[in-house]
Amino acid sequence: MKILKYPDKRLNIIAKPIKNINNKIKALIFKMINTMYSHQGIGLSATQINKHIRIFVMDISKTYNQPLIIINPKYSYVSTKYKKVKEGCLSIPNYFEFIYRSINCIINAIDLNGNKFIINAYGLIAQCIQHEIDHLNGKLLTDNLTKKHK
Ligand SMILES: [Zn+2]
Repeated sequence: MKILKYPDKRLNIIAKPIKNINNKIKALIFKMINTMYSHQGIGLSATQINKHIRIFVMDISKTYNQPLIIINPKYSYVSTKYKKVKEGCLSIPNYFEFIYRSINCIINAIDLNGNKFIINAYGLIAQCIQHEIDHLNGKLLTDNLTKKHK
């Protein structure tokens, strides 16, 4: 699938929650996983493939073969402790920036079968989750920079 690239305005659309995980949505999710792997990314949001629904996929496993599917994520906790991290984005190729991310966040979400689950995330997982939820909210990592820096 084609990934939208900065400064495409469609990257700023706020995604809507999913009501029904039908076969069309499932097929889309598998395409997202393939797209993420074919671009060697660790996360991909539906927003980036121009589908404005609240889904993202990620894989931060060492073996890079354990995709996580996150549907309708919601923060239940975001730490106010921040860490400076280096971050890139498939929508901004060959660009990396140092930004601040919360060191810990907890999200509620549902899986492919509609079952609720919770992730208590630290480190790279927490960073990745924040990055992808930002996408669903129409935000890019460049939005965390000052105007001058941009
Ligand atoms: Zn991104």
